[in-house]
Amino acid sequence: MRKSDNNADTIDFNKAKLVSTFNDISRQYGDNNDIISKLTRRLQTTLDTRKIVELFSDELSQVIKFQQFSYQGADNISFKSNDKAGVHSCQFNLSLDHEALGTIKLSRKTRFLEEEMAIIERLASTLVFPLNNAKMYYAALQSALIDELTGLGNKRALQSDLHREAERSVRRNTPLSVVILDLDHFKAINDTHGHLAGDQVLQNLAKTLSASARQSDLCFRYGGEEFLVILDETSPAQAALICERLRLSIAQQNFYYGAKPIPVTASLGCATLQEGESLEDFIGRADKALYVAKDSGRNQSVCFENLDPVDSEQGDVSQTA
Ligand code: GH3
Ligand code: MG
Ligand code: MG
Repeated sequence: MRKSDNNADTIDFNKAKLVSTFNDISRQYGDNNDIISKLTRRLQTTLDTRKIVELFSDELSQVIKFQQFSYQGADNISFKSNDKAGVHSCQFNLSLDHEALGTIKLSRKTRFLEEEMAIIERLASTLVFPLNNAKMYYAALQSALIDELTGLGNKRALQSDLHREAERSVRRNTPLSVVILDLDHFKAINDTHGHLAGDQVLQNLAKTLSASARQSDLCFRYGGEEFLVILDETSPAQAALICERLRLSIAQQNFYYGAKPIPVTASLGCATLQEGESLEDFIGRADKALYVAKDSGRNQSVCFENLDPVDSEQGDVSQTA
């Protein structure tokens, strides 16, 4: 049952009640078959939740008079038309197979009539599948950005996040740093304890990294046994401290495979974005610092900005060695 004045109805597609008198009632509001098929066609043109509800609100406004239309999705995506809310409202909860999708709410100065609510209910039922498709599409997009083994963001997620953070850092004139971390002699861990043990070390490392990083830091699995952390609003001096803190927290952590202890250390390199620098060069400098750390005996953290020119050249040499 739909409800007015803040009591909500749930429209579950499998149980959606098609109002028998709908055809009669809606005749006075226009040809409903046209409306339904036009609406259904338009809602299928996008997988963007906000766009779907915006299109719906647009079509609905041609049939029912209302001041404000709002949508609150179960996934926290929301939409509100610009107009002021009215004192009278009606709302409908939308769900599919008992899973909540979201709630639409209309408001205006005058009460909503039963007949009008019947029409809104019928039209709102056309939202259910498009919204569910959008929800599944969004979930698929999200999972394409997650590294399956560790649950951290993957390289694809890193690319878009780093781009966004770099733009923000330029806009706000705040420093941006990155840390690249590579596990030491990880091949030997696989060879000695087996690939599964290696996998578990990677999973534990991801947890240690997330726990040791600040809340605003973004951690990614950059490659096989390489990780990258974006340090927002972080100067070279702060990045060097964080880098060393991460190194220590890994070296001091006790990693086990079953009852077997596995000593784990990592080498880290960090760099801070320079004015006008490309993201490729930025990461490249952190990578050079990492190779200097490897060359200096591993279990080291090195900040590119603290390297003298000879050391920073050395990064190139060790990379090709
Ligand atoms: P270094 O200290 O120079 O970094 O030595 P390393 O042994 O860590 O580096 P190397 O590049 O020689 O070996 C990396 C190893 O990481 C080889 C590869 O099999 C392993 N590896 C990459 N991805 C995974 C993974 O998902 N799981 C496991 N178990 N091993 C992986
Ligand atoms: Mg490596
Ligand atoms: Mg390694």
